[in-house]
Amino acid sequence: MKLDKFCQSCMMPKESAMFSAGTEKDGNKKNDYCNYCYIKGEFTQKDTIKTAKDMQEMVKTQLQKQGIGKVKRWFYTIGIPKLDRWNRG
Ligand SMILES: [Zn+2]
Repeated sequence: MKLDKFCQSCMMPKESAMFSAGTEKDGNKKNDYCNYCYIKGEFTQKDTIKTAKDMQEMVKTQLQKQGIGKVKRWFYTIGIPKLDRWNRG
């Protein structure tokens, strides 16, 4: 699996219609992240999403709301701990 095809925080596929790139403070695009995760140079929901596990739970909840089944929810979130955001210093 090529992880650079995904948002490096929530694992949203960059080819998804829902994906648009995050933004830096200066308004430039930050292609590593989607704009649900990273806006104006900061991660969103920093108070509630502190670990990869928090992110997995959040994404699973969102997927469930979209009617996505359990196996797919697992599949779409299993790689989250391997993403850059959760493996920095
Ligand atoms: Zn994201």
